This record gives sequence, structure tokens and C-alpha cells, in this order.
Amino acid sequence: MPYKIVKNIIPGLNQRNLTAPRFIVAHESGNKNNTGSNSLENEVNFMTRNWRNAFVSHWVGGGGRIVQLAEVGKLQYGAGPKANPYSYAQVELARTNNVETFKKDYAAYVWLLRKLAKDAGIPIKLDTGSKLTDKGIKSHDWIRKHLGGTTHTDPYAYLASFGITKAQFKKDIEKGTVSSPSDVSVKPAPKPQEKGTSTTKKTWTKVTGDWTGQTLGNGEYGEPVRQLQTKLANNNPPFYPNKDAKNNGVDSYYGDDTEDAVRRFQSYYGLTVDGLAGKQVYNELKGNPSASKTLNKSNLTVDGKWGQSTTRALQKALGTPVDGIISNQPRNSVTNALYGGVTFGSEGSNVIVALQKKVGTIADGKLGPGTIRALQKYLGTVVDGKLSRPSLVVKEMQRRLNIGTF
Ligand SMILES: [Zn+2]
Repeated sequence: MPYKIVKNIIPGLNQRNLTAPRFIVAHESGNKNNTGSNSLENEVNFMTRNWRNAFVSHWVGGGGRIVQLAEVGKLQYGAGPKANPYSYAQVELARTNNVETFKKDYAAYVWLLRKLAKDAGIPIKLDTGSKLTDKGIKSHDWIRKHLGGTTHTDPYAYLASFGITKAQFKKDIEKGTVSSPSDVSVKPAPKPQEKGTSTTKKTWTKVTGDWTGQTLGNGEYGEPVRQLQTKLANNNPPFYPNKDAKNNGVDSYYGDDTEDAVRRFQSYYGLTVDGLAGKQVYNELKGNPSASKTLNKSNLTVDGKWGQSTTRALQKALGTPVDGIISNQPRNSVTNALYGGVTFGSEGSNVIVALQKKVGTIADGKLGPGTIRALQKYLGTVVDGKLSRPSLVVKEMQRRLNIGTF
């Protein structure tokens, strides 16, 4: 079945070149609060407004419709710093709670992933190999497992909720066994999960006492979980386990909803996103009973030009005095490539010391090729110790500063 790709490129993207085209990445939105008949439009509108945080080339949804938001063969930001420079196209699947819609979406999703691989001359193989040089169509989960730089496991759980197993998805991709929605056999629409009665027969482990930062995770229930859920719900902004459930889902059971709330919380505050509530989450919740907490996010233009506003955002994120100036620097190829906001001298600068500690290199406070090399390694961009005007590593740093995950 031929599908129409509606091209709606986000204005102002100005995508960088790829390092090399090796992957087509298969995603799904992970957004269980957006499953209605407008879910595709909602996702497309959201990404068009928030492309500075992340964007991909294609969205599929709405009953087999395809929207293209960014050029293929150019850099997109959906799969983490390790895979993005090698991803020719990245395809997101919008969620639905309707079986017929899902069938159409899935057929279009498989068709598009295969087509993009063909276009790029990439083998139509799903999740094969384990190295950066193993070309093919990759799930976000494969990237997490083999390349790192990301914690997402999509699209498997969502596909499985309609009865599409990993093996089925692989077969459909590689053999082209799905050419129209009627080829897709699925389970009934997934019901919202109910605690304790889930079809997977979850066994719950009881935990007791007060929650003082000991690690809690999926499958546990008891008072510490209730305290965690209460804190999440009382946070500003709130992270309810399940806003539509009784008592906002505060029920003492650490199930998928609570894990999801913890993941959203971790992502919002720039913590490690693992869905486990331990010391980091505890401290963040403790320090944030109200809006008093300033979030480490910035609103930089992601242009790869390191000037005063980038320095200011960096100072804010690293907790050094915020004046937008990198002081007492040596004159070299790197400091000469800055877009202003630098003074020369020999003592070095606080923000550079903090940056060097962060990226794991000698902390002498002086910016040079060694620091850029470590920064490039840290951010997963090409490691050459050079600062171009504008620069890819600065662009990645700006993007991460904007979302608070530098
Ligand atoms: Zn993904």
C-alpha cells in the first residue's frame, strides 16, 4: 500500500550534517496521556514548538498517516548523542487506544521504516549486531543496550500492548509481511493497568518503614512507596503516578504508573533516568517542597556559537558566578574561536575549572584543545579537540543546557 508522506519541515531547523548514515531509528512516543483521535496532531504540534529539545524526521499515527518534520540524512535529536550522528532518519509512532487505528499505524510504520532504509541504502534488518558500524533499522532499545547515551527502551512495550512481539516486529520489518492493515493481527486494545489485577500477574514485594532515600522500584508496595508517591504528587510541578486514578494514583504500589512518574521526574530535573527512586530522587524531592527551586534549564539559541549567553547558561548549570565572562584565558585556537565574553590572562577561570571537572579532564581553568576533546567525548560528538565557528560540540552543549541535562 503506498502511503503519502506529508512534508511539514519545522521552520528554522538548519540541521547539521551526519557523521555517516547507518541507522534508521524506530521510536514510539511513550506518551500514554496522548492516545486519542488527535494524538498525531498533538505530537506534531508539540515537537514543532519544542524542537530545540528534541526532534525526529517522521511521525506516524492517526490511522496510518505520516508527517515529516525534518530532513532525512541530516542530524536529528531523538536517540541520544551516540546514535544521532549516524541516524539517517528517526521515526516516532504516536499512541492510540483504538485497535483499528493501531493496525493502520503499525502497517504504515513498518512500511516507512523499510522505505527509509531502502532510500538510504541501509540493510532492512532489525536490531542486528551490536556495534556502531552494524548498519540497519534499530529500535531505541537497541541503541540504549549497545551504544548507550540514552535510557529509552521503546518501541517494544507499546507494540507488545497490542500483541506485537519483538519477533513479530522483526519479521514484519525484514520480510515485509505487513503490506496493509489487514495483515496486522493484534490483541484487543490495552486496558488501563489496574494494580494487583494486571494480566501479567505481578508479584508485589512488601517494604516497610519510612522512605529516607533507600532505593524503591517497580514491584514493591508499602508505606515507603506511599510516601514517595505523596511527595511526587505534592511536588511543584506535581508528578502524579496517575492523574486519572483515585487519589491521583497514590496507592502504595510501585507499578508502571509510579515508575513512569519517577522517570518523568528524573528527566525534568536532569537526574539519571532509570525509573528507580533512590537518594538522588529523594534529595531532589526534599529540596523542592515549593517553586523555590530554580530549574537548571536555559533557553539558548542552538547555533553552535559559544558567546556570553552560552557561558552564562554554563555558569548557571555548573553553579559558578554568573557573569557571562570566561576570564584569564590563554590565547589559543580554542579561545580565539569564542564569540566574545573572554578575557585573557594566566590564572584560568572558575567556570572552566567546573567544566573540566564535569567532563573529567585536568582542572586548570584554561580552555584549550584538551578541554574541548574531553567535552566532545562527554557529549558524544566527533573528538578532534577543535572548536569550529560555529561548532557541533557547542551546539550539543547548548541543546543539553536547554533541557537541563548537561
Ligand atoms: Zn525513542
